Amino acid sequence: MLQIENIGKIYGSGSTAVKALEDVTVRIGNGEFVAVMGPSGSGKSTLMNIIGCLDRATSGTYILDEVDVKELSDDQLAAIRNKKIGFVFQSFNLLPRISALKNVELPMVYAGIGHKERRERAMEALSRVGLSDRMDHNPSELSGGQKQKVAIARALVNRPAIILADEPTGNLDSLSSEEIMVQFQSLNKEGVTVLIVTHEPEIAGHTKRIVTFSDGHLVRDHVVDNPLSAE
Ligand code: ADP
Ligand code: ADP
Repeated sequence: MLQIENIGKIYGSGSTAVKALEDVTVRIGNGEFVAVMGPSGSGKSTLMNIIGCLDRATSGTYILDEVDVKELSDDQLAAIRNKKIGFVFQSFNLLPRISALKNVELPMVYAGIGHKERRERAMEALSRVGLSDRMDHNPSELSGGQKQKVAIARALVNRPAIILADEPTGNLDSLSSEEIMVQFQSLNKEGVTVLIVTHEPEIAGHTKRIVTFSDGHLVRDHVVDNPLSAE
């Protein structure tokens, strides 16, 4: 469970201070599937960074699975992040000079998992996204949709409870976008909490709940009546 209570975030200080979030309160239960929408600069990425323990709020409280993250050191925060959260980005963020398989193994290297298990779990994750036959390819040899599938495999290989995806379909054509949403829907069906930042109503329509930001404020929070099936 993610409990965001009266969160504020200010970047910088003095005359150059930027208020990115103000008095945001939202609760997201385990197993939810949420789209975060709103214009550019409205605070979506800032919220995702706070939820993902990449950054801290300036004010308010964020409780992640009963732990107040304010009480955690930076090292403890990093440990929670690696254990609980998988990240997917618009620009894939794959290492260009190593294979898809090695990219997917990386988070497990940081988690200290042995070579054999790493390999097995990476192959299993790539198989899940339908890319077993591309595991020895470098990212430059893959299409955008394939790269994002590798990134999803990488995000789920440490079995996170939460997947955070910032504009994951922003660089993809509509067919590849659909395929990526199939992956997220399938993870959500298995109980993973999925949060997706998107500008596209079509993408948001695949989720179960849409929270909308404007100018640092949460201005709308509504249930999606009949989520689009991506299959
Ligand atoms: P969105 O994801 O909705 O486009 P952001 O969360 O990236 O919005 O940005 C919210 C506001 O905070 C914007 O005014 C942006 O310019 C500002 N901002 C974001 N990151 C930083 C940063 N690292 N330093 C200073 N200002 C920032
Ligand atoms: P998909 O629709 O599955 O994302 P595409 O139809 O775009 O894939 O690509 C078909 C094949 O062409 C892919 O399997 C990939 O190996 C190769 N390919 C696609 N885009 C590129 C690219 N930019 N550079 C190198 N190979 C590519």
